[in-house]
Amino acid sequence: MNRLVVQKYGGTSVGTIERIKKIAERIARMRKEGLDIVVVVSAMAGETDKLLEMAKQISPSGKDREIDLLLSSGERISCALLSMALDSIGCLAVSMTGRQIGLLTDNAHTKARIKAIDSKRALKAIDSGHVVVVAGFQGVNEHGDVTTLGRGGSDTSAVALAATLKAKRCEIYTDVDGVYTADPNIVPDARRMNRVSYDEMLEMSSLGAKVLQFRCVEFCKKYDMPLIVKSSLVDNSKGTLICKEDSSMEQPVVSGIMIDKNQAKITIKGVPDQPGIASKFFTGLAEVDLSVDMIIQNVSDESHTDISFTVTNEDINKATKIVQELGKLIEARNINADPNICKVSIVGAGMRSHPGVAAKMFSALSKENINIMMISTSEIRVSCIIEEKYGELAVRVLHKAFNMTKV
Ligand code: ADP
Ligand code: ASP
Ligand code: MG
Repeated sequence: MNRLVVQKYGGTSVGTIERIKKIAERIARMRKEGLDIVVVVSAMAGETDKLLEMAKQISPSGKDREIDLLLSSGERISCALLSMALDSIGCLAVSMTGRQIGLLTDNAHTKARIKAIDSKRALKAIDSGHVVVVAGFQGVNEHGDVTTLGRGGSDTSAVALAATLKAKRCEIYTDVDGVYTADPNIVPDARRMNRVSYDEMLEMSSLGAKVLQFRCVEFCKKYDMPLIVKSSLVDNSKGTLICKEDSSMEQPVVSGIMIDKNQAKITIKGVPDQPGIASKFFTGLAEVDLSVDMIIQNVSDESHTDISFTVTNEDINKATKIVQELGKLIEARNINADPNICKVSIVGAGMRSHPGVAAKMFSALSKENINIMMISTSEIRVSCIIEEKYGELAVRVLHKAFNMTKV
């Protein structure tokens, strides 16, 4: 019988020595009940930001290879401490870094993708009765250099390990009691969802619900690995199950409101309205691996037009520099970069069959005098770019307009 469970504890859950001791007790209890356990940990709360800040003080454009080695140390600390805490209460445990667990990635430092996991060492440790405590968020590339998996990447380490080790389930322990209709720290009366389909969770994560990293949900879907999101801070957390869609799942018109503050907008004014211009800009950005999200181009005015697009805040300087160089060549009138924006989105599978959802969203925002700068839609989503200072208000207003507190 499969008794293996992979558990992941996020930054708040391992944020203090007291919390690490508490988690160790919980794991030891489950071990006594007969489960085999692999635990993936994040760095202690705030640690990754602290390390990044230190790097910035040395050099604002530090090399990604060095950043990765630096950041990986946060997870190593919590991993070793939790392993020691387990050991001190008589629960056999062994800590492992990304390299020791055999997690191989590509070479994209700071946002590496997992290529394979060589599970031999982990399986041996489990067989000999150890709880394996893994430093999340990290791996090594083909050169043996340490890589990291992007912010929130320990979620992905956990699911990838669960899939490779063929665990019966993966449990993500965090500081909220599951996945909610909106970030419960922004909307106090947001509702916890019992179950969410892989596809809906993919949309929610990609639009800013940082409770699960997007790539972690991609893995779950690919390997059909059921995932439970629970709170580590309370004992009777009910949690949310992320699983395959089935007919008994609720399909409200709007199931979630997301906000992504990590967005910036670049506008290129007065570019010639000719074939090949958009291609020049976006090829230039793609060549240096910059992902662009929303794009709008205005109607031509006297053979010139404006193009706006969004990138993440981390990419704004790099993107602006490239656009400025290309803009000079085609004599664009002006280039403007605005980091003070955010993206607010509504998501719901039921939207497909209900017209008027976008109209309702725009009307709710206009009642609060919130100006919409850009709009994009898909079958099950509507997103608006607005000023960042109105972002949280917009989430609350939309949650109310779509009556989401009630089932
Ligand atoms: P961890 O350190 O455990 O990985 P994170 O901070 O990455 O935790 O993710 C948990 C946070 O995600 C919550 O504290 C909450 O503010 C935020 N969040 C955003 N959207 C949602 C949502 N729809 N449901 C639950 N939490 C959400
Ligand atoms: N410590 C990393 C971060 O803060 C990874 C993680 O927590 O999952 O993004
Ligand atoms: Mg996280």
